[in-house]
Amino acid sequence: MSDRKRFDRVLIANRGEIALRIQRACRQLGLETVAVHSEADAESRHVREADVALCIGPAPAGRSYLDTDALLLAARVTGASAIHPGYGFLSENADFADAVEAAGLTFIGPTGASIRLMGDKITAKRAMRDAGVPCVPGSDGPLPASMDEVQALAAEVGFPVIVKASGGGGGRGMRVVWDAKDLAEAVTLTAKEAQQAFGNPTLYLERFMQKPRHIEIQVLCDTHGTALWLGARDCSLQRRHQKVLEEAPAPGIPPAVIAQIGARCAEACRKIGYRGAGTFEFLYEDGIFAFIEMNTRVQVEHPITEATTGIDIVCAQLKIAQGEALAIRQEEIVTHGHAIECRINAEDPFSFMPSPGTISRWDLPGGPGIRVDTHVVDGYTVQPYYDSLIGKIIGHGASREEAIARLRVALAEMRVEGVSTNLRLHQDVLADPRFQEGGVDIHYLERWLAERT
Ligand code: ADP
Repeated sequence: MSDRKRFDRVLIANRGEIALRIQRACRQLGLETVAVHSEADAESRHVREADVALCIGPAPAGRSYLDTDALLLAARVTGASAIHPGYGFLSENADFADAVEAAGLTFIGPTGASIRLMGDKITAKRAMRDAGVPCVPGSDGPLPASMDEVQALAAEVGFPVIVKASGGGGGRGMRVVWDAKDLAEAVTLTAKEAQQAFGNPTLYLERFMQKPRHIEIQVLCDTHGTALWLGARDCSLQRRHQKVLEEAPAPGIPPAVIAQIGARCAEACRKIGYRGAGTFEFLYEDGIFAFIEMNTRVQVEHPITEATTGIDIVCAQLKIAQGEALAIRQEEIVTHGHAIECRINAEDPFSFMPSPGTISRWDLPGGPGIRVDTHVVDGYTVQPYYDSLIGKIIGHGASREEAIARLRVALAEMRVEGVSTNLRLHQDVLADPRFQEGGVDIHYLERWLAERT
């Protein structure tokens, strides 16, 4: 493991709202920031406000935000001695983390070895099972080459099963199989897709859980052996495996149950020598948690945990990377109230097609318990090259009802013109009686959308 060093200038290898979020944390800690951007993002807010800004390539991410050589060169010429990868792009690329450290810089995240272990879902599941974290039952490793053996395995696990790519991510590279007769074709197709999308055809198989909730545990680990869990988030409201709205804590799950699984996650982190921020993702059904994967980076939905615990996760990432010990003990972490995040996307509210264009009006909400994380300003142009997230509205209240009420006021205040957004979807979800009850499963939103049309 490399030495953690002090640094005073951080290169932010990302764009959009998370780049601004990281820049704010750096500023708060007295660190200088280097913004690197594509030609399309030259007018971005964090670029304008950075201590140093550098264009590293044209709009397509492959030639800018994903260009390791350009990023390392940018760090060298600007004198940055640490790199924060944000989420997406290179944040979970183990080779990038290794290259950063090999260049004598600090990677603000876990070691390349941890990213590699968790980036392969088969090795991740093994490591978690060995560390005492409950996993979804399934093939205990890659699928065998013989289809007869795969059939036997699936029969043992029990249909329906889900065939998943070991190197998969972003909700791609998986297929649900309801019946043994469809298994062979599903395996062939998914392997082909996995090879194309991730350069790795290795597959595994799991029991397909039919009505689970997506519950995740945030962890923070320093390099002195302390691993903390910061409560749970419920991210069950998803469309095409993409999260739409998240909340903390998870409604209806007793704190003692969360504490038990949280402690397991923290213990697993100690076992694998994890450092920095991370998230354990679980499916939760009939009172049972089943690990599906770990994200080795800060997540889009981190603000709801910040709201409920009072811990600044991005500042903590920076301090951990500086070699500081976490200044808080597990017993001191308490959850206050309830927080909900609405991801605001520039997209058609019905077809969900991206809606790039120039934002002519951008009126943001405010008031007690409302936090807005966005890089957008009046006149900002939403580019077609990147994801369509243009902001996050986070509502915090003493109770879930208060958080919902505050968010409903906030969303009603918000005015966006020039592009379409999913604001209306969020308003309708917050007004939905079943959502208000809490605890919907991961298929609820799609069922609800289908009924609406
Ligand atoms: P990715 O890395 O692509 O996000 P995950 O393994 O986290 O893949 O799975 C993404 C989503 O797919 C989950 O949130 C869930 O909706 C669904 N999913 C994955 N595994 C299962 C399973 N065993 N049973 C039911 N749904 C699953």
